[in-house]
Amino acid sequence: RVLSIRDIPGVNPAIADKLEAAGYSSAWTVVVARVDELAEKTGIPPTALQKVIENARRALGITFKTAREVKLERLNIKKITTGSKSLDDLLGGGIETKTITEFYGEYGSGKTQICHQLSVNVQLPPERGGLSGKAVYVDTEGTFRWERIEAMARGLGLEPDQVMDNIFYMRAYNSDHQVSIIDDLFTFVPKNDVRLVVVDSVTSHFRAEFPGREHLAERQQKLNAHLHQLMRLAEAFNIAVVVTNQVMARPDVFYGDPTTAVGGHVLAHTPGVRVQLRRSKGNKRIARVVDAPHLPEGEAVFVITEEGIRD
Ligand code: ADP
Ligand code: MG
Repeated sequence: RVLSIRDIPGVNPAIADKLEAAGYSSAWTVVVARVDELAEKTGIPPTALQKVIENARRALGITFKTAREVKLERLNIKKITTGSKSLDDLLGGGIETKTITEFYGEYGSGKTQICHQLSVNVQLPPERGGLSGKAVYVDTEGTFRWERIEAMARGLGLEPDQVMDNIFYMRAYNSDHQVSIIDDLFTFVPKNDVRLVVVDSVTSHFRAEFPGREHLAERQQKLNAHLHQLMRLAEAFNIAVVVTNQVMARPDVFYGDPTTAVGGHVLAHTPGVRVQLRRSKGNKRIARVVDAPHLPEGEAVFVITEEGIRD
């Protein structure tokens, strides 16, 4: 299923060598790249690259679709259970493939626990709410815990070691690293039966590296490019992409929702599903879907237990 650079008609070995050396090994990686960026990284003239990209598109069958084909593709969308019936219902059945789902909320609202749970649940067979697939977990904050995976696997009666073997973990050390990990996933995902990619959190490196109002525009531009890259990944391979975003509450906001004020959600200009999480009493959490015309309004209550996300 993975079409290598060398399988693209008209790509000679010298060009293939240069592309591979720059990290572009599959046809998908060039199709989704920009010509100027490819030219800069490979030293190949833009006119030659344009030809490579056109041939790669043709080889991958990227052309117009009829509306009926769009409908059939839409029917192809699959869902992953969160572990909570109430949260699944709020999301129209679970976390969808072919899109990005953003969980945003304050520290401790349950974003990381949901990411862990989905990495386990994606492995379940379809009749139990999974996709019989594997997960990629990109961790930017160092909050991934194998112990939680083990406990959640046990909670579902799954073999913990087997479940852990099916989660590919990578720590991202800065925003450039984070972006390059996702670039590589255009090759890695189809080769390894990956059906879920988690980025927890998608924003922290960008916030740290581009601080303050003076870097706001640059930060948002880089973040948008990264989110589009993730969206393409979700669409290209019919996988679910889940990102988290920590937002701070503003104690000085008295009317409306205090957590939407600072930072807000990051998917504002990207298609996708945004879910706000709030703490409630004890281990209870409240989820709300924001700006999703295709989903009913309302809130879901779920709990975080030792065994994971439950009703
Ligand atoms: P966020 O990523 O939004 O900052 P987390 O997903 O890390 O928040 O959620 C942390 C919360 O998860 C803790 O406050 C605790 O309530 C719950 N939690 C973490 N580990 C366990 C566990 N082993 N058993 C029960 N609840 C847990
Ligand atoms: Mg977290």
